[in-house]
Amino acid sequence: MNQASAGHLLGLIRSGQAATRGELQRVTGLSRSTVGSRLDQLFRAGWIREVAGPPPEAPTGGRPAVRLEFDASHAVVLCADLETRHARAAVLALDGTLLAEHSGALLINQGPRAAIDRLTRWFAELLEKAGASPDAVCGVGLSVPGPVDAAAARVVQPPMMPGWDGYPVREEMQRALAASVGGRGPVPVLVENDANLMAYAEQRHAYRDCSAFLLIKVSTGIGAGVVVDGEMYRGFDGGAGDIGHIRLSEHPHALCRCGSYGCLAAVASGRALAEQLTAAGIPTASGSGVRDQLSVGQPDAVRLAREAGRLVGGVLATVVTLLNPGVLMIAGDLAGPPFLTGVREVLYQRAMPRATAYLQVVTSRLGDHAGLTGAAAMVVESLYAPDQADLRLAAMAGERRPDVIPATNE
Ligand SMILES: [Zn+2]
Repeated sequence: MNQASAGHLLGLIRSGQAATRGELQRVTGLSRSTVGSRLDQLFRAGWIREVAGPPPEAPTGGRPAVRLEFDASHAVVLCADLETRHARAAVLALDGTLLAEHSGALLINQGPRAAIDRLTRWFAELLEKAGASPDAVCGVGLSVPGPVDAAAARVVQPPMMPGWDGYPVREEMQRALAASVGGRGPVPVLVENDANLMAYAEQRHAYRDCSAFLLIKVSTGIGAGVVVDGEMYRGFDGGAGDIGHIRLSEHPHALCRCGSYGCLAAVASGRALAEQLTAAGIPTASGSGVRDQLSVGQPDAVRLAREAGRLVGGVLATVVTLLNPGVLMIAGDLAGPPFLTGVREVLYQRAMPRATAYLQVVTSRLGDHAGLTGAAAMVVESLYAPDQADLRLAAMAGERRPDVIPATNE
């Protein structure tokens, strides 16, 4: 990383390590004039602004210094959180503030093309509702219920997303946005697993000090997200946390959507509980249907959720022993007292006391917005990371000076 770059100074400002020109000089060892010219690049881009006075938490008493801060309103992010039967789409400011939101039916099993078409239509309407120009969009973040190759922005062998395997989501989303939203040109499109993004958002929101954070999402499917030292842990090729398809020896005849028998998701997911409730004469379509039954205390739903919690707790005893998290968050449609009670019953019984001694078992703080919040944070952290910020600043400088012909290798 170039220590002297504008992107690096932006990083120091965004992280709170430096808030004034003097502090930037001290932290970087750069001269006053170099700091000034680097900051000019950031001002020209509209990425930072000056505000008067010290931060409220650190009053100095003397003359209030001019403080530099990241301008979270200079661009917007488009995000969508896809579930199996519905989706949420939103326009967010760079600090995660929701500017406009829509949620509606979207069947993920109808394939990526239909989903992308519908999402881009929603995005166009949402930008108008938020009063934001298509030119202000700096990136797109998508949360999906399946394993993801994040570098390629593709879903990989998803059990619940027929037609999505290897589909070029980034390229098709850029094409659809150009057709129905407009804007200056293709913007980065990032795709990530839903449990990973929820974990990322929740850890940043309320558990920043927790260096090992584990979130279990139990909705129509079951997945886990792990955040270690503030970063998503994706595993070797994006498959980390796909615990829904761990086989349980005690349920050899339960057929799973993935084609195997005995998976955790085949007996303890929202989909499995919906089927069990339907068989018991209580028609329930999906994980969100189970959530509705739980919210009115339907006795069969409560009993089944507690049993499902026990089954998940059995798997979590192993997961918690391996990861030693400080926080275990249970999120998704089934997350509620009956399910948590089941998890605790088996987790504490089967895991070594050492692994659970300081473990906090909690429920979601961000609720249904965790996926969107995580997707926006992922996009912003990627686009404004020092190296990426420098590349974008260089590209903008090139755009502003069309008379300068870039050097080529030809
Ligand atoms: Zn399975």
